Amino acid sequence: MNPKLLFDDELQRRVETISRRDFGKPFRHRACFNPRLRTTGGRYFLSDHRIEINPRHWLECGAEVVDGIIRHELCHYHLHLEKRGYRHGDREFKELLAHVKGLRHAPVLPGSGKRSVRWLLVCQHCGHEYPRRKRMDPARYRCGKCRGRLRLREIAVCDHDDGPF
Ligand SMILES: [Zn+2]
Ligand SMILES: [Zn+2]
Repeated sequence: MNPKLLFDDELQRRVETISRRDFGKPFRHRACFNPRLRTTGGRYFLSDHRIEINPRHWLECGAEVVDGIIRHELCHYHLHLEKRGYRHGDREFKELLAHVKGLRHAPVLPGSGKRSVRWLLVCQHCGHEYPRRKRMDPARYRCGKCRGRLRLREIAVCDHDDGPF
């Protein structure tokens, strides 16, 4: 990717264009890169409606992936502004995401130290996380620390479950 494209105003225009083209609605708030994001591809903030994008996905995965992340965040954005179901688990969110072909999960970044880790087995009792490269059946294993039941989680675009939107 051309590093010259790594400017917030470039991203801002890109988000505005995708919003008009794929959603038929304007994006009237701020979009910016946040270099402090780690594995998260993007974030939407309920407080001020801004969208943040991980610049490493832009540099390392390319524009097509970032466009998919932008569409994901715009699903949160438009549904939230329209007071519809904007959360990951909401039917309206899932339908809109599928309709605009947004990414459900951001690709794992090369060299992020979690190179091929795409899945987390999470203990439902003590919360311990076991990163795994391959999808596994959580019912077949128990937590090594407390013997609790495990739940499988894919590493996601937004860490909405643990932080702000
Ligand atoms: Zn445990
Ligand atoms: Zn999301």
